[in-house]
Amino acid sequence: MADLQLDDVTKVFVEDDGNEITAVDEVSLAIDDGEFLVLVGPSGCGKSTTLRMVAGLETVSDGAIRLDGSVINDAKPAERDIAMVFQSYALYPHMTVRENMSFGLEESTSMPDEEITATVEDAATMLGIDDLLDRKPDDLSGGQQQRVALGRAIVRDPEVFLLDEPLSNLDAKLRAQMRTELQRLQEDLGVATIYVTHDQTEAMTMADKIAILNDGQLQQVGTPLECYHEPANLFVASFIGEPSMNFFDVSRDGETLVHDDFAYDLTPETASELGDHDELVLGIRPEDIELRSTQDDTHSYETFVDVVEPMGNENNVYLTFDADSTETFVATIDGLHHVEEGQSVIAHVPEDAIHIFDRASGTALR
Ligand code: ATP
Repeated sequence: MADLQLDDVTKVFVEDDGNEITAVDEVSLAIDDGEFLVLVGPSGCGKSTTLRMVAGLETVSDGAIRLDGSVINDAKPAERDIAMVFQSYALYPHMTVRENMSFGLEESTSMPDEEITATVEDAATMLGIDDLLDRKPDDLSGGQQQRVALGRAIVRDPEVFLLDEPLSNLDAKLRAQMRTELQRLQEDLGVATIYVTHDQTEAMTMADKIAILNDGQLQQVGTPLECYHEPANLFVASFIGEPSMNFFDVSRDGETLVHDDFAYDLTPETASELGDHDELVLGIRPEDIELRSTQDDTHSYETFVDVVEPMGNENNVYLTFDADSTETFVATIDGLHHVEEGQSVIAHVPEDAIHIFDRASGTALR
């Protein structure tokens, strides 16, 4: 059992022509014992590089990685007591499941053969693959191969688990099932885990804590709900949530936010949170927009239904402020609430649901 800490960890790759790429830029993170941290961000933001530095597969350019307080920057991968599961599974095709799972133990420990057999069989039972131990990887489904890759990591009884997009090769149904299984497994094992994905749904549903990376820089660390309700900046606000938050460029005139198509009056308390920032972005989550038939309140605006996207239990309704406009924003409403394309509806947005960002820096002001 252990905790892992990254202090200002930086990775600079130097290309053949001398060009430097800062893939990871002063990232600081703490993963407590037993915690499930999901590292999320768009392609190329530095997720895999971060994980590979923790595993010892990539050198650290600057900063420190600590396991239980000791710096492990220069420790070899095998000395780290950290197990990594790759997207590709990386199973040996010529070995059986049993051999794939026991290979690492035979190579790196002095564990007696009987104990290795028992450890492998326990892990296989835990993962529901005990009847597949004598098969070769080619004779397994994607989901079964994924379990073998996990099993190979589990038998090492590591202090830290690193999982790099482990479910991305599975179909949607199996992915959803494996998400739950992985969470349960991680809880049972109680091992500090870093899970890398570019999929925000995976991050939201699995994580104790999410760390959001963009362009090598950490944007926010928090529980899924903190990142959803209190995004630190425009990047996090747009990355977390599906459909994405709606954004409107607004200018401030006293206690009013002025947009080309509407004016939104703030209470003095909310206005005071904005300091002296005048050029702002108003952010509204699709699920915070309420559609009504009458204009009976402040913060209500006439809009026109452009497109209705039925999602089953919910509808995504694309709205415009002007019947002829093509600039839409989206509201998510109950699937039982029926609206017609072309219809005029009143969109109501309560003040406690709005997000306001400084336009130049992107920082959240409230
Ligand atoms: P993805 O989700 O697509 O796997 P990622 O977030 O894991 O992306 P990384 O693979 O960590 O991103 O890459 C971060 C940046 O570092 C990218 O710009 C990438 O091109 C660059 N990079 C990664 N490995 C190397 C390398 N060996 N040499 C040079 N640049 C590299």
